[in-house]
Amino acid sequence: MSQTGFSALNALSPEQIDNLSRLGYEHMTAIQEKALPPALEGKDLLAKAKTGSGKTAAFGIALLNKLNPRFFGVQALVMCPTRELSTQVADELRKLARYQPNIKVVVLCGGVSIGPQIASLEHGAHVVVGTPGRIKDHLRKNTLKIDQLQTLVLDEADRMLDMGFRDDIRDIASQTPAQRQTLLFSATYPDNIAQLSDELQRDPIDIAVESVHQTSTITQQWILCGRDEKAATLAKALSHFQVQQAVMFCNTRQAVEDLTQYLRNQGYLTLALHGDMEQRDRDQVYVQFRQGSAHFLVATDVAARGLDVDDLPAVVNYELPRDADVYIHRIGRTGRAGKEGLALSLITEKEDYKRAAIADTQGYDVPLMSPAELKPSGAAIQKPAMVSLCISGGRKNKIRAGDILGALTSAGGITGQQVGKIDILDFVAYVAIEREVANKALAHLQKSRIKNQSVKVRRV
Ligand code: AMP
Repeated sequence: MSQTGFSALNALSPEQIDNLSRLGYEHMTAIQEKALPPALEGKDLLAKAKTGSGKTAAFGIALLNKLNPRFFGVQALVMCPTRELSTQVADELRKLARYQPNIKVVVLCGGVSIGPQIASLEHGAHVVVGTPGRIKDHLRKNTLKIDQLQTLVLDEADRMLDMGFRDDIRDIASQTPAQRQTLLFSATYPDNIAQLSDELQRDPIDIAVESVHQTSTITQQWILCGRDEKAATLAKALSHFQVQQAVMFCNTRQAVEDLTQYLRNQGYLTLALHGDMEQRDRDQVYVQFRQGSAHFLVATDVAARGLDVDDLPAVVNYELPRDADVYIHRIGRTGRAGKEGLALSLITEKEDYKRAAIADTQGYDVPLMSPAELKPSGAAIQKPAMVSLCISGGRKNKIRAGDILGALTSAGGITGQQVGKIDILDFVAYVAIEREVANKALAHLQKSRIKNQSVKVRRV
C-alpha cells in the first residue's frame, strides 16, 4: 500500500474522506493511486488489476463522486461476470456511498426471480450492478433505462468474455450515451480485451499495478505423478507441506465430488462448491470456509469466483486449468497482502505441456518434484480451529453482529475472544466459535433471545 492518503484527492468531499477513514481506508492501494486521479477527471481507464487490489473502491469512489442523488435514474452501471461478484461489488459500493444519504444500489443477476428486481427498479436506482444476461433481460422488458448513464464499468472483463458475454456487453453499451465514462478492469489482457476497449472506450488511460504476483510471496511447487496416484500423492503432499487450509481446484463437477469424498475419507473437513448448487448452499459453504470451520474447499473455477478469503495459506491445482491465465488467477488467491502463500499443482505426464505455457506467462519456471520426495509428517490431522453456528435470523430480521456477540457473551456465556467472524445474510446469520466451546455456545444461544426474538441455532 502506498503512503498517499485519500485527502490528496481534491475532487473528494470531506464527508467521503471521513467515510473512507471509518471504513479503515487511510491510504490508497497502488491501483487506487494510479486510477483515481484520471478517473475523477472523467477519463476512461483500461486497468489491469485483480481481486484484492482494491479495484472495487477505485471505480466505486469515482462513479459515486459523479452521482446526482436527487435524480433517481440509473447513472452508473457495473457489469460483473457472476452473481457472487455482483453482490460483493454492490456491498462495497453501499459502504462507499454512506457519505451521502439515500443512494440506491440495485443488483440485477440471473438465477433469482425477476419480479422483486423490477419492483426495486421502479423505486428508482442510482447505481445498478449485475450480470450482462439479466441486465439485457431488463432492457428488453423496458424495466431498466440506461439512457442517462454517466459511468459504465466492466469488472473482470476477461472473465465476462470467457463466459461468452461479449455480444451482450456490446449491446448494453450501445444503449448508453456515447459521452459516458467507461472504466474497464481485467485481471489479464488477452487480445480480445484490447478489441473490447477499442470498441467501447475513448483514449483510455492504461493502468497496471505491479506484476500480478511476486514470486517472493507465493511459493509454487509442481508435483509430477501418474493419473491414478493423484489423490494419494495429494494426501502425502498435504502432510509434507503441512497444509491445514486450502482452496483446491478441479475442472469438472465430477472431479470436485470425487476429490471431496476422498479428502473426507482421509479425515479432512472438506467442503465442495460447484455451479449446480443452490445459492443458499453456496453461501453457507463460502461462509463456513471463510470462518475457518473447514480444512478444504474443493471447487471449479466458476464456483470459486465469488469466494473472497484474504488470508488463504494455500491453493492446490488438483487439475491444471486449460489456460495459463487461469492458473495465475487461481494461485493469486493465496499470498495476499504480503503474506506467504503456497501453490501446489499436481500434474500428469499428459498435462506437462501446460507447464511451459505457464512458465512462459509468468516469466519463470517452477520446480518439479516427484512423489518420492514427499515426506509425510505422520502427525494426526488437527481439526479446524473454529466451528460455525447457523442462527435462524438475519439482516431482514434486523439482527446485527453486535446482537449475536451480546447474546453469546451475556449471562455466563462465553468470552468475546472465543468468538470469530460473524456473517449476517438476509435470513440467517453465521458465527464462528472456538471449537472447544462450540457446544457450550450452542446451548447458550438456544436459550437466548436475539433482538427479542427466539431463534433456532444449529452447528453446520
Ligand atoms: P477488491 O480488490 O476491490 O476486491 O478489494 C479488496 C479488499 O480491500 C476489500 O475488502 C476492500 O474493502 C479493501 N480495500 C480497498 N481499498 C482499501 C484501502 N484503500 N485501504 C484498505 N482496504 C481497502
